[in-house]
Amino acid sequence: MNSNVELQVKKTLSAINLSKKDKILVALSGGKDSCVTAYLLKKLGYNIEGFHIDLSMGEYSKKCLIAVKELCKQLNIKLHLYDIKKEMGGSMCYIRTTIQTTHGKGLKNCAICGVIKKWIMNKEARKLKVDKVATGHNLDDETQTFLMNILKGSPQLSANLGAITKNVKNAKFITRIKPLFYVAEDDVREYSKLKNLPVFYDHCPCALDSYRIQMRKFVNTLTTKEKLNIMNNFEKLNEKIKKLKSTEVNYCKICGEPSRNNICRMCQLIKKS
Ligand code: AMP
Ligand code: ZN
Repeated sequence: MNSNVELQVKKTLSAINLSKKDKILVALSGGKDSCVTAYLLKKLGYNIEGFHIDLSMGEYSKKCLIAVKELCKQLNIKLHLYDIKKEMGGSMCYIRTTIQTTHGKGLKNCAICGVIKKWIMNKEARKLKVDKVATGHNLDDETQTFLMNILKGSPQLSANLGAITKNVKNAKFITRIKPLFYVAEDDVREYSKLKNLPVFYDHCPCALDSYRIQMRKFVNTLTTKEKLNIMNNFEKLNEKIKKLKSTEVNYCKICGEPSRNNICRMCQLIKKS
């Protein structure tokens, strides 16, 4: 298993032609997936730095930060910290609750948090002039997302899934990579324990998205081979899926960040109406 994880990641990085000259910012949550991502990229000789968003969610965030700091120390890499309270005026819980009060309870916690984190990551990565952002998304995460989009009847939402984002060339969009795209969650967990990596294993206390939890339960019943089959099917369909989605990139009229619409998802969420 140990060598399988490394082999699979090597294969994925070679398939996406990742260059050792690229400066890669690894988005570190404190959890096992992003920790293993950074560990392997460093081990394989890539040029990486760490980036962590402190969500100010009490004890949970404190423990995430401790794990991230320890990892960066062990890997001897620079850590860039983004304090959400300082930068955006409130903790993730506060921002999220305000959005839910304004837009109605229908918006799921993880969906809101995901939009905000992605917006921050792209903006900060650009400021730091990195070539790519790496996240810890694994085979289970991607299988869940793909199946959820299919069941919602919105396959076009999967247009950006994949080990590398294939955005239209745009200087404001930093390319995102997922080195663990083909590695099952159980293997990532086992690998992190085997290597004794500094990981905070608890789940986010706000991850209460019932749909994803339901999908996770289903995906957990599948074998790795079956999960890989699903994602291989996704790849076969991907060219068609991409055609369902506009590739045109605009700039958000409010924040100036790249967006497919006149106003980006982030600004749609935080505007007061
Ligand atoms: P999640 O959306 O929590 O499943 O996280 C997916 C990926 O986003 C993780 O593997 C990390 O690479 C990144 N990520 C999540 N939370 C943070 C955070 N607080 N700071 C930096 N990166 C994060
Ligand atoms: Zn915006």
